Amino acid sequence: MNAATDSFAARLAAIVGRAAVITERSALDPYETEWRGRYHGRARLVVRPASTEEVAAVVRLCAAENIAIVPQGGNTGLVEGQIPDESGEQVVLSLARMNRIRTIDPLDFTMTVEAGCVLRTIQEKADDADCFFPLSLGAEGSCQIGGNISTNAGGVGVLRYGSTRALVLGLEVVLPDGTIWDGLKSLGKDNTGYDLRQLFIGAEGTLGIVTAAVLKLFPKRQDVQTALVALADLETALPLLKRARAISSDRVSAFELLPRMGIEFATTYLPGVADPMVQPHAWYALMDLSTSRPGDSLRETMESLLADAIEAGEAVDAVISGSIEQQRALWRIREELPEAMRKSGAVLHHDVSVPTSDVATFIRRALAAVEAAHPGARCLPFGHLGDGNIHFSICPPVGADDDAFYQAEHRITPLVFDTAVDLRGSFSAEHGIGRLKLDELDRYKRPIDLDLMRRIKLALDPRNLMNPGKVVRVGNR
Ligand SMILES: Cc1cc2nc3c(=O)[nH]c(=O)nc-3n(C[C@H](O)[C@H](O)[C@H](O)COP(=O)(O)OP(=O)(O)OC[C@H]3O[C@@H](n4cnc5c(N)ncnc54)[C@H](O)[C@@H]3O)c2cc1C
Repeated sequence: MNAATDSFAARLAAIVGRAAVITERSALDPYETEWRGRYHGRARLVVRPASTEEVAAVVRLCAAENIAIVPQGGNTGLVEGQIPDESGEQVVLSLARMNRIRTIDPLDFTMTVEAGCVLRTIQEKADDADCFFPLSLGAEGSCQIGGNISTNAGGVGVLRYGSTRALVLGLEVVLPDGTIWDGLKSLGKDNTGYDLRQLFIGAEGTLGIVTAAVLKLFPKRQDVQTALVALADLETALPLLKRARAISSDRVSAFELLPRMGIEFATTYLPGVADPMVQPHAWYALMDLSTSRPGDSLRETMESLLADAIEAGEAVDAVISGSIEQQRALWRIREELPEAMRKSGAVLHHDVSVPTSDVATFIRRALAAVEAAHPGARCLPFGHLGDGNIHFSICPPVGADDDAFYQAEHRITPLVFDTAVDLRGSFSAEHGIGRLKLDELDRYKRPIDLDLMRRIKLALDPRNLMNPGKVVRVGNR
């Protein structure tokens, strides 16, 4: 550590305490490396404030010193937004110590939480209050609500409850100059001009630091029925979803697509995972029906729905979970599939969306394009079919060299993105832009969109000190 960093660290320590400023190289490492281990930045130091006032004081000090800040939550983001650049100049501001549930109001169906609360803790606290918080994703044991808000996280409940944007009623944000913006309202309706909170949701830390939020809760779920359905074909997935929504009075709360290869990766790389069906099938849907009404006989609804779907030629087989353990086992296949692929070696992830009715067309076209360009590459299109959001992951051919595969990324990835964009889709449905997808943003966004984004960024952060080099390029970064 040089003398300048030393004196800066001492001034930060005066705000947050010595133990909350990390400067030792070995201790910085976890904050500099992202989940997949593909990218490693270099931080000047890490600061861990414990209150909104401390965050504001840290931001003011950094602004005075012209030092850029990278906000970091649970570090599960998949586009490198939470990792500093290689300069060794940027400060990582970790929200991990801001982890208090401030209030829960079960009559208002709201909960006020600090940004560093881990998503699973929020789900559990809502449950304790006889309520339900529907945001749910594979990283929920480590991602933080501040990170979820800043990425406008999606997950498996979007079909019924919307993405994070729909679940946030109010926000508290420290702006790039250190001002605290208190927008912690719990109003269902508030048409008093621009909806400022929406600016910060999905901004990936480029417009300010989210320090707290008012979240929307729902009645506690009394019954959840899960089924893994073997589809007759990819094209029968949507008719099955339509049928399920109609028969269940719109109580479908998740509808996820899995290809055969997904089951094979899960059974090969995840300990204790077995194929739930005797026969292999090309495509599966993992579906939840849920209700907040006691005695709703959802099991019978699920059984008759699946019987009808098989008779109509939409499905060919199904397994309904008989216990919470079986339910978890079925969901493990879906939720831990990214982990299974990671264990297998190289993998290229693409998180795209298309109009839901075009999902099958997108998958067929993208499969053909990748196979033609890279024969033998193993494609795993899976995920949130009900939202038109497919994670189109690609692993190298069996036995191929991982590094050589990564070198072909610039040829393979546009095949998937172009196919989605041709169908009026998006090249980033829920993971964001970060620094990983800046080139795609320049390529696929219209100039007018980029211009508006830059104008908003510069209006709030004229010196580009808040997570620079992420989401939108400004000046030379
Ligand atoms: C196994 C796995 C499954 C996943 N599944 C999904 C999924 O289904 N749907 C989905 O949308 N995502 C998914 N993700 C991606 C990731 O979990 C989400 O993006 C999550 O919302 C990030 O939260 P985090 O706390 O880890 O944020 P981080 O990774 O720490 O940060 C993400 C971004 O938000 C910014 N940020 C973090 N906290 C704050 C704050 N308090 N104020 C301002 N900016 C902040 C960071 O600077 C960065 O740009 C998955 C990731 C993994 C590893």
